[in-house]
Amino acid sequence: MKKFIVSIDQGTTSTRSILFDLDGKPIFVSQKPLKQYYPKNGWVEHDPNEIWISTKKVLNEVINKSNKIKGKILTIGITNQRETTLLWDKNTGKCIYNAIVWQDRRTFKYCQNLKNKGYEKIINSKTGLVLDPYFSGSKINWVLKNIPIAKVLLKKNRLLFGTIDTYLIWKLTKGKVHATDATNASRTILFNIKRNCWDNQILKIFSIPKKILPNVKNSSDNFGITDKSITKHPYPINGVIGDQQAAAVGQGCLFKGSTKITYGTGAFIIANTGNAIVRSKNKLLTTICFKINNKTNYALEGSIFNAGASIQWLRDNLKIIKKAKNSETISKNQKSNNDIYLVPAFTGLGAPYWRPDVRGIITGLTRNTNRNDIIRATLESVAYQTFDLLNSMRKDGQRIKNVKIDGGMVNNNWLCEFLSDILDIIVFRSKVHETTALGSALMAGYGIGIYKSLSDISKKCRIDKTFRPKMRHKHRLKLLNGWHQAIKKTLR
Ligand code: ADP
Repeated sequence: MKKFIVSIDQGTTSTRSILFDLDGKPIFVSQKPLKQYYPKNGWVEHDPNEIWISTKKVLNEVINKSNKIKGKILTIGITNQRETTLLWDKNTGKCIYNAIVWQDRRTFKYCQNLKNKGYEKIINSKTGLVLDPYFSGSKINWVLKNIPIAKVLLKKNRLLFGTIDTYLIWKLTKGKVHATDATNASRTILFNIKRNCWDNQILKIFSIPKKILPNVKNSSDNFGITDKSITKHPYPINGVIGDQQAAAVGQGCLFKGSTKITYGTGAFIIANTGNAIVRSKNKLLTTICFKINNKTNYALEGSIFNAGASIQWLRDNLKIIKKAKNSETISKNQKSNNDIYLVPAFTGLGAPYWRPDVRGIITGLTRNTNRNDIIRATLESVAYQTFDLLNSMRKDGQRIKNVKIDGGMVNNNWLCEFLSDILDIIVFRSKVHETTALGSALMAGYGIGIYKSLSDISKKCRIDKTFRPKMRHKHRLKLLNGWHQAIKKTLR
């Protein structure tokens, strides 16, 4: 009988479940899209019921597939969109408000207020994060303040909070387990990453009662058993890990110094810093990479707001490419970038600039500039932004010798090669596209002893292609100089 691990990957735009064999090979995928709600400018919500129903559906489809091929599922791992906030009634399991998604900016003023009161420093030193609506704390505060039933349930000790992982564990175990893992907890802005516990002082700042928070476990741990009413046969849940950290595990970034970048709509960089909590002087986030055997492994994290999104912009707004993949041949056929630089600051610039107020520009336009120059400049900008982030990590003391990449954009070979040239390091592209799901499956497998060590896990993370830097040093410096001139103009 073939043995499998199932991953549930509850993401921002879809819910997926994937059947992996014990070698980390994806065997079967089931996926359902997730509707996005934008009730007001800057607000983003999901329907928790849709999240749950789609999860149940994809999970059971994968279980059915396993049964059909006479397989045996040993364990389930969960990975999820991080920071997204839910509160529900312990007795009925009903959510009292929609899920407030990580992208939601409704608590901007509230966070600004806390900043003005001088709380940012203490919050940063304890949680590793910056005071921003992105994280769960201010979202929980909003629900407690604005949804009347919250106070009633709180008084009756019936109110529970969870990020999406916690909600799914609660539903899958039919209310038996209220838990999260350390990586998800570290994104709530309520978790003390040094002491590894909910922080009373921060809870007070955000006016959040501790009793609504889940129990924080290792990323490989016993998270309960699925209820028979949901999966017919019970399956143990042994791995839970936030999506970006899961991608790091799925890419084999398990040891100090290893770095992964996921290029999707945005891009997320995680550099494993081992057991050291590295405080960034360049506004990168300090976060928990994973926690196993009660030992915490930390990371530095940075993000690029617009990576694949800028290719979507070429396709959907400018309409100068038909498909995202066309950007590859067009860029390859251009002899040079013709001194055109595009800064895709559509929603401002993130680390290391942190200027949400600025907007994008194109520099160097001449009478000869054509659409192909714009396409190439857009792709190039992804590599330059990565350079700036890695530079910040280096300034924070990280020695990054190579990077591992995944996500939809890395299908573009030209971009991968250009990335290696600009970063001037080796770039490894992952063989498995679903690294996030793989990461949670590997955590679950570790939880039940299929994999005995981190080295064991890393053997399951395979490389598809290696890109080596080929560009002449002088040319590289010229390009970087052009980019930084454009950045200067953007920031003016
Ligand atoms: P997400 O998980 O954020 O939805 P994906 O990892 O699925 O994103 O990647 C999709 C993104 O990658 C889209 O923004 C798309 O424009 C971009 N993309 C996909 N294929 C290519 C390609 N060959 N070249 C450049 N960009 C691409």
